[in-house]
Amino acid sequence: MAILDAPRGFLRRDRVFETMIPAYSPRLDISHGTILYLEGVSVSFDGFRAINDLNLYIDDGELRCIIGPNGAGKTTMMDIITGKTRPDTGTVYFGQNLNLLKLSEPEIAEAGIGRKFQKPTVFEFHTVFENLELAMRGDKGVWATFTAKLNGEQRDAIDQVLDTIGLSDQRSMRAGSLSHGQKQWLEIGMLLMQRPRLLLVDEPVAGMTHQEMDRTAELLTGLAGDHSVVVVEHDMEFVRSIANKVTVLHQGSVLAEGSMDQVQSDPRVVEVYLGGD
Ligand code: ADP
Ligand code: MG
Repeated sequence: MAILDAPRGFLRRDRVFETMIPAYSPRLDISHGTILYLEGVSVSFDGFRAINDLNLYIDDGELRCIIGPNGAGKTTMMDIITGKTRPDTGTVYFGQNLNLLKLSEPEIAEAGIGRKFQKPTVFEFHTVFENLELAMRGDKGVWATFTAKLNGEQRDAIDQVLDTIGLSDQRSMRAGSLSHGQKQWLEIGMLLMQRPRLLLVDEPVAGMTHQEMDRTAELLTGLAGDHSVVVVEHDMEFVRSIANKVTVLHQGSVLAEGSMDQVQSDPRVVEVYLGGD
């Protein structure tokens, strides 16, 4: 698979393998190879159709980039998948059998869908290690987390995620003193502690240096395969550097889909989006 050809320096796949493999929800049926289905999905806000008869299919293990101009509906689409916004019409399935429209936001997260918002929300006064520990323990709270001792397996799980996100050397640093890029990776690590099957990532490289972007591309391409990853991103150079398949959203529906070269040479895409760049 082409996505596995990314340089390996940052992500040492062999060592992270065990913990990185997502928790299989016994309820999730992906026998058809598709992990996420959105069909005929529409939602209006005050009469404005933000999502308009949207069809989107994500394969198990795929890394998909979603691009599109401001207001195209990218964030709303993620809100629908995670249960934050309910569509007026349409169907949304996780695997063959989990109807996401019947699940609450926490149930959807529990079923294996993790979302990273644009702004990092790490605990600035805790160390990198403690942030991952808190994420692993879920909603137990800071007090319960730091009074209970970690067992060896849990410690290994945190070490392996530290390795994956490239922050092993920063494990004892306060999260607040990390660079912007490092905070973003830490937050991805916090998601990974919950072993999601599908990761939704909104604009991961906004505000990053070129070097940080390269590392982020490596991180996300390395996560694909064991996880399915959907990335919404504006930065075209970054999308080109990681993309397998690109979906262009426009006015709430899919305008074009294919390789970066295919969508960039599509006259409709050039007209509504890339032409203006
Ligand atoms: P994108 O992320 O692609 O920039 P959004 O999904 O944020 O686009 O927004 C799509 C459209 O829906 C925009 O016109 C936005 O103003 C509108 N919109 C999104 N969420 C709401 C909401 N909760 N209430 C009203 N309008 C909204
Ligand atoms: Mg958005």
